[in-house]
Amino acid sequence: MALNILEKLEILADAAKYDASCASSGGAKRNARGGGIGSVTGAGICHSYTPDGRCVSLLKILLTNFCIYDCAYCVSRRSSNVKRARFTVDEVVTLTLDLYRRNCIEGLFLSSGIVRSEDDTMEDLVRVAKTLREVHGFRGYIHLKTIPGASEALLRDAGIYADRLSMNIELPSDRSLQTFAPEKSVVSIKRGLAVTRSGIEAAAPQKRAASGEIRKAKAPKFAPAGQSTQMIVGADGADDATILGASANLYASYALKRVYYSAFSPTGHPSAALPHQAAPLLREHRLYQSDWLLRFYGFALDEVQSAMPDGMLDLSMDPKLAWALANRARFPVDVNTADRESLLRVPGFGTRAVDKMIASRRSGALRLDDIKRLSNGLTRARPFIVTPDWRPAMLDAARLKERMAPAPKQLALF
Ligand code: SF4
Repeated sequence: MALNILEKLEILADAAKYDASCASSGGAKRNARGGGIGSVTGAGICHSYTPDGRCVSLLKILLTNFCIYDCAYCVSRRSSNVKRARFTVDEVVTLTLDLYRRNCIEGLFLSSGIVRSEDDTMEDLVRVAKTLREVHGFRGYIHLKTIPGASEALLRDAGIYADRLSMNIELPSDRSLQTFAPEKSVVSIKRGLAVTRSGIEAAAPQKRAASGEIRKAKAPKFAPAGQSTQMIVGADGADDATILGASANLYASYALKRVYYSAFSPTGHPSAALPHQAAPLLREHRLYQSDWLLRFYGFALDEVQSAMPDGMLDLSMDPKLAWALANRARFPVDVNTADRESLLRVPGFGTRAVDKMIASRRSGALRLDDIKRLSNGLTRARPFIVTPDWRPAMLDAARLKERMAPAPKQLALF
């Protein structure tokens, strides 16, 4: 019996929730003042959070959960015993516009299982975005998944209509991908990421000398919010050091905005080849924190890895604290004389707080009360900093770790 659109929505929104790469940060501001419909605010589209803490956009769907591939970690794989559904291109367009007009969503995140061929599927995804943009003047945020193995021409079309493109690398090593997704080609995935990177770079404003002056050349728009990818954590035996190494490579090779980490969960109809237990969400969280250290805090990969002797992040504390405890000789730092790089390594200090401290100390020495005003991480930072009115006692790493551990808390009854 044919499914109605709500029944399809139920199936295809549920199937899409396993993709973590849905944030819209970095999207360009856009509105419909000059015509059309919808807007993207500076902060991006609306997000909602599932009970397990995942961030999801409100219209996050698959075009279909039918798939000719059999990736062991995926609930939509062809051997999975799940109900299948498929939207038409027009149904997705109508649904997006309806929900937009009702103010329920600010954008669309669209992915798909592979039907018939990679190109057929990619063509349908592009048609959705193109129809929304060109026929309906849709100015909202669009994130399209790109299909590994789809033609370069289709990937380039996708970049014209979407704000963000993403292609999932899925697993941290080529060998794991071959084991758990033998029909997927590592080469196709990397080629797809490279095509998107070159499209983004070609569209970046180029400075060009013209008539003796430097002017900004107008470039065609291409995925202005960049590209991202996702790695599943805990499906194969890769440790955190390997995962972070793979991420560092991806950032360097494909100019990614984000690598998303998705803790493996054997929900639906899990493949017998995979663990029966879900990976802890805290592991996913620690990986995000480490990723942040690499991208925004000036840490080198081997520094972060050096604080995980068995290759795994310590789940009991954040990775910056773990690194600081392993490198006690680097502390305490004087907040009034230390350079930005050293201040960023102090547990509890974020990038904004550090910038505020550097600006404030130009007009006088910072005391403990000033730090309290400029950062909300003073409690964690105290054992690692010096101010004119504060010098920490030398504590050994074990006692410090004990002191910094969060107080045990009773779980809620309901
Ligand atoms: S190709 Fe994509 S949708 Fe199909 S089984 Fe693999 S991960 Fe799932």
